[in-house]
Amino acid sequence: MSIARVEPLTTARALRGPFDYEIPERLGDVGVGTVLEVPFGRRRVTGVVVELADASEVPPEKLARPIRVLGGGTTEELVRLGLWIAAEYCSTPARGLGLVLPPGTGTGGERTRFRVEKVSAITDAGREALEGGGRLGAKQRLALQQLLEGDLTGRQLAARAGVDSGTLRRLEERGLIARRQVNVRRRPEGSGVGSAAASAPELTGAQAEAVRDLIAKLDDPSAGQGVLLAGVTGSGKTEVYLAVVEEVLRRGRTAIVLVPEIGLTPQAVGRFQARLGDRVAVLHSALSAGQRFDEWQRLKSGEATVCVGPRSAVFAPLSELGLIVIDEEHDSSYKQEGDPRYDARDVARRRALDAGSLLVLGTATPRPESWRALERIELPERVDGQGMPPVEIVDTRDSDPRQGPIHRKTWAALAEVRERGEKAIVMINRRGFAPWLTCQTCGHHWGCPNCDVSLIVHRESDQLICHHCNHAEPLPRSCGDCGGTTLSQSGAGTQRIERLLADELAPMPVFRLDADTSGGPGGHARILSAFDREESAVLVGTQMVAKGHDFPEVTLAAILDADATLRFPDFRAEERTFSLVTQLAGRSGRSRAGGRVIVQTLAPGAPSIASAATHDSPGFLAGELERRRELGYPPFSHLIRIQLAAEEEPDVDRAAGLVADRLEAALPAGAALLGPAPMFRARNRFRRRMLVRSATRELSIAAVHDTIEALLAGRELGGITLSVDVDPQ
Ligand code: ADP
Ligand code: ZN
Repeated sequence: MSIARVEPLTTARALRGPFDYEIPERLGDVGVGTVLEVPFGRRRVTGVVVELADASEVPPEKLARPIRVLGGGTTEELVRLGLWIAAEYCSTPARGLGLVLPPGTGTGGERTRFRVEKVSAITDAGREALEGGGRLGAKQRLALQQLLEGDLTGRQLAARAGVDSGTLRRLEERGLIARRQVNVRRRPEGSGVGSAAASAPELTGAQAEAVRDLIAKLDDPSAGQGVLLAGVTGSGKTEVYLAVVEEVLRRGRTAIVLVPEIGLTPQAVGRFQARLGDRVAVLHSALSAGQRFDEWQRLKSGEATVCVGPRSAVFAPLSELGLIVIDEEHDSSYKQEGDPRYDARDVARRRALDAGSLLVLGTATPRPESWRALERIELPERVDGQGMPPVEIVDTRDSDPRQGPIHRKTWAALAEVRERGEKAIVMINRRGFAPWLTCQTCGHHWGCPNCDVSLIVHRESDQLICHHCNHAEPLPRSCGDCGGTTLSQSGAGTQRIERLLADELAPMPVFRLDADTSGGPGGHARILSAFDREESAVLVGTQMVAKGHDFPEVTLAAILDADATLRFPDFRAEERTFSLVTQLAGRSGRSRAGGRVIVQTLAPGAPSIASAATHDSPGFLAGELERRRELGYPPFSHLIRIQLAAEEEPDVDRAAGLVADRLEAALPAGAALLGPAPMFRARNRFRRRMLVRSATRELSIAAVHDTIEALLAGRELGGITLSVDVDPQ
C-alpha cells in the first residue's frame, strides 16, 4: 500500500501532524512536496505530502484517501527546509511549508493558475494555400502571412493583423493552421530587455583573486557554512558575484542572489539581467500574483537558473543549486518580522549545506557573528583606487539650540557643494516634520491615544501621526487643556530638513526619500532616478538614503543624528550605528572629484561612531566582540524572545507570570530567563517581554516550544497574543 504523510495547511497551532492517507492509483504521481486536497474531519483542506511510506499504523479501514492533486507542488529539498524552519523558529509546519510552496497555494481564496493560451502555427497545407493561391479571405491570408514568421498567440495575431478568433477557428478547421495550448509566462515589467548583451569590465586584481578563491570553493562540501566577502563600499562586490554566478551556470548549476528589500531597484536587477539575460527570474513583493506564480514556475521548470530577490527568494525552487549570495549581509531586512520569524541568512546556510552549495555573504560592514565565524575574503580598496572619503565628526552637544538641526559646518559644506555644482546626501533618522508638539503655556504634550509614544508633526498633511499604529488627527491650533495658542514643534524630521535645505540652498533641487515619499511600487527608484538626472542636487531622507545606490557625483554625505540609533535599548545598537554611518559615508566620493563626510552627533566618543569615522571595521568588530563576550550576548549565547500582549494590563501580567514560571521549570541548565519586563503600550495593548539566554540552542528552543504548546493546548492563554522570536534582531 502507498501511504502519504500529509501536513494540513491550517493555522491551528496545537495540531499534531502529519496524517496518513492512502494513495489510490488514479491520483498519478504523488511524491514529497505534492499538494493535495484531503478530507480532514468534516472539512476538506489543502495539505502537503512530507513523507511517503509503505505502511501505516492507522488501520486500513480508517485510512482516508486524498480527493485530488492540486498543482505541481514543491520539491523534496524545500519540504525539508520548510519543516526545519518550523522547528528552528518555534512556528508550525503549516507556516514553514507555506514559505516553500508555489505562490498562492492554500490561501483559500482564488488560486493562482497558469495562464494558458492557444498558439497558432502554419501547416504545410497552409503554406501551399498561401503560395498556390488557394481560396482565402483577406483576413485569413493576413493571418497566414504573419505565421510564416513564427508561431503566435491569438492575442499577438489580433494586435498585428486584426485577426479574430473566428478566423483562426476556420483556418484550423481547414487544416491550414494547427493550434496548441501553451503556458504563457507573465513576466515582470522591463524583464527580458537587453538580453545578456552587457560584457564584464576587466576585474581588478583584488576582484580577480576573490573570484578565483570563491570558484575554488565550489566543490568544497563545507562551503555552505559561508564565506565572508568583506569589501569596502565601492570595491566592486557585485562584479565578483556576477563572475561566480557565471561560472556556476557554466557548470550546469543554478544560483540565488539575495539583496536587501530596499536594494531591489530596477537598476540592481537590471545589472543581473543585462549580463545573464532571461535566465534571471525576479521574485519580489511588487509583482502581481500572476507574475510571481509564473516566475516561480520558470525557476522550478529550469527555464530560469538564477533567482534575484529579497529574503523570500531563498526559497526559490531551483534544483542543482550551486551558489547562494547574500548581498549586504548586515541588512536587517533579512529577518522576517511575522511568524515564522526566520532569518534568511541562517536559512540560506541550512539550504546551502543541504544542497552542497557555496554560500557567499558580502558587505562593507560585517555582522560580528559573521566576522567571528566565517572564512574571509577581503576587497580592501575601491575599484578606482580612490581612498575612502575623510570623515569629520561634529560634536553637537555644546551647540546653540537656536542654530537649528543643521550645524554651521554642515551648512558650509553644503554651500560648497552648491558652488561646485555637485551632489550631497543628508540623512536624518526620523520621518515627518517634528517629533514633539507641546503647549508653551501649560506644557501639554501630544501623545498617541493607543500607544505610549509621542505623536509626530507631519506638515504636508497638517496632521499628528503615530509612527506605531498610524493613528492620525488634525494638527491642533490651540491646546485642548488650557486654550493656549503657542504650540511648539521641536526636534526635526526629514520634512523639516527638506524645507530648511530648500529655503537655504535654492535654486538647487532637494529630493526627499522616506517611507512617506517612496510608497507604492517603484516609488523608491523613482526618487533616486530623479536625483540621478539632476546635474547638482541634494537628497535628504531616512536610512533609505544610505542603501543600495551608487552615484559618482556625490561629494558630501552628512548625517545629522548619528547617535539616534544608539539610543535604542538593544545590544545591537552599536553594530547598527556603525553600519549605518559607514554605509552612508560610503556613498560619498565615488569619483575623481573626491568627497567628504560630516557626522553630527551627541556621542562623538561612542566606539561605533569613532570607528566609522576612520573606516575601521576590523577595529570596531574586535571591540564589539569583546564587549559581547563580557556581557554574554550573541554570538556568545543564543537569545529567544517571548512577547505577550493583551487589552487589559492584569491579563498580560498574569499570562507573563504563568509563562515565566513554566519556562523556569522547563529550561535546560545554563539557560537564563530575563524578565518579564514591561514594554510601552502599543495599539491599545499592554505588552510584556522576556528573554531566554542560553548556550544550548536546540534544547532551549524545544523547551520554549513545548511550554507554549502545552499552555495553548490547555487553553491557559485566552485573549493573549503571544509571539516567539528566535535570534531576535
Ligand atoms: P560595492 O557593491 O562593493 O559597493 P559595486 O559593485 O556597486 O560596489 O561597484 C561600484 C562601482 O564600480 C559600480 O559602478 C561598478 O559598475 C564599478 N565597477 C566594479 N568593478 C569594476 C571594474 N573591475 N572596473 C570598472 N568598474 C567597476
Ligand atoms: Zn499609536
